[in-house]
Amino acid sequence: METDYDVVIIGGGVCGCSVVFELSRRGYRCLLLEKNDTIVAEASAGNSGMLHTGFDALEKSIELDCIRRCQSKIFELTEKLGVPVRKIGATMVAWNEQQLARFPDIVSKCSAAGFDDVRQLSVSQLQQREPYLSNKGLGALWIPSEAVTDPWLLPVLLAHDARKKGAQIITKARVESCQWNGSVWEILSTHGGYRAKCVVNCAGLYGDIIDRLAGKSQFSIRPRKGQYTIYSQSARPLINSSIVPVPTSIGKGVIVFKSVYDNVVVGPTAENVDSRQRATIDGDICRRLHSVARDTVPLLNKHNVVGHYTGVRPATQFKDYIINADHERNWITVGGIRSTGLSACLGISEIVRELVETRIGLEPSRGACLTVSTPSVTFTKYGSAFIDGQEYCVKHPLTFVGKTNSFSKM
Ligand SMILES: Cc1cc2nc3c(=O)[nH]c(=O)nc-3n(C[C@H](O)[C@H](O)[C@H](O)COP(=O)(O)OP(=O)(O)OC[C@H]3O[C@@H](n4cnc5c(N)ncnc54)[C@H](O)[C@@H]3O)c2cc1C
Repeated sequence: METDYDVVIIGGGVCGCSVVFELSRRGYRCLLLEKNDTIVAEASAGNSGMLHTGFDALEKSIELDCIRRCQSKIFELTEKLGVPVRKIGATMVAWNEQQLARFPDIVSKCSAAGFDDVRQLSVSQLQQREPYLSNKGLGALWIPSEAVTDPWLLPVLLAHDARKKGAQIITKARVESCQWNGSVWEILSTHGGYRAKCVVNCAGLYGDIIDRLAGKSQFSIRPRKGQYTIYSQSARPLINSSIVPVPTSIGKGVIVFKSVYDNVVVGPTAENVDSRQRATIDGDICRRLHSVARDTVPLLNKHNVVGHYTGVRPATQFKDYIINADHERNWITVGGIRSTGLSACLGISEIVRELVETRIGLEPSRGACLTVSTPSVTFTKYGSAFIDGQEYCVKHPLTFVGKTNSFSKM
């Protein structure tokens, strides 16, 4: 039977953009379907924009594997694409004796995971590196490889590169049914019907619903909100690195960091919520974030808050990512990428490509084209970007504020 595409990717967040990038350059005919009117508008538009090293990822997890694979190639790629990245490092501060006592364990875990450059700082070294930090810190770990990037531009440029290599990206296309007819997937969306040899489910907060359309039930989404406060760029001299707390079993905790465009940001929080939609700003949480900011860097008090934003993580009942293939029906699930999806994106797409090649056994219908050319990118003051002349709407607050200096039009 004739098919339209080798692979249909459902969802245009950082995972879908990375998968369409990787498969298109290998020669697969790809279609990405996104239900919103623009790509990178859900979980991927509400994160911190940090490229983490995986210091708190579970040992031997798929997540850590993806982060490590991504770390080995992301910096070369961002340079080629012209995506701004700053390796500012992270300072993990112990504010009490129990946190201090966990440092040797964290250092040995990092070293076992292949990050040998993490080292402990004394109080005086900490004060030298971060002179505006509260003087209540009892010590710190220095994690030099942590970086910040533009969290919107990176996935958008991955999708844009795929487009240049022949991939189709269709927005306002909500997938509503997926039927396997024995050799081909027939996908019905609000934009039309398509046929493909293989489907990759990258639907983020709706990943469980899309899996169910294919008759699968491996996980359920448990949305987890994160809220942030953004300070003006005038606060940028107050920190030199990302100030991270000692992680707990719930997550990384509230970080005081600088976006790649120099806004000081405090967040994210972590609350389980019922809704999968973008969460509202909660006044009590704003006050909590303000007090974390003041306790961590007291002088932040003197700088203006320019805005607040939220993101919702596609968490599940499991801690680890779910990435697997049903080789009998050519279906790949990329689910529950609740945290670190930006830091792990190229690892996630590499694993998906391996599954397409080996588990599904699908050959690309075109020749590979691995070269990446630098696109021309111009941001407008109204919050969009022209990439090689094509307009994309900026949905990530850190990119929006960083590029327009204003929050009001978002
Ligand atoms: C508060 C917060 C802080 C974070 N901080 C970081 C960080 O600093 N660094 C980091 O690496 N990671 C971070 N993350 C994690 C990262 O943002 C996520 O792992 C990542 O965005 C998940 O991407 P995704 O593509 O799976 O989901 P999404 O970005 O949600 O994309 C899924 C897409 O699928 C589309 N879709 C859903 N259903 C359908 C349908 N029926 N038809 C068509 N399309 C559909 C959606 O519209 C959406 O665009 C953070 C996340 C949050 C929320």
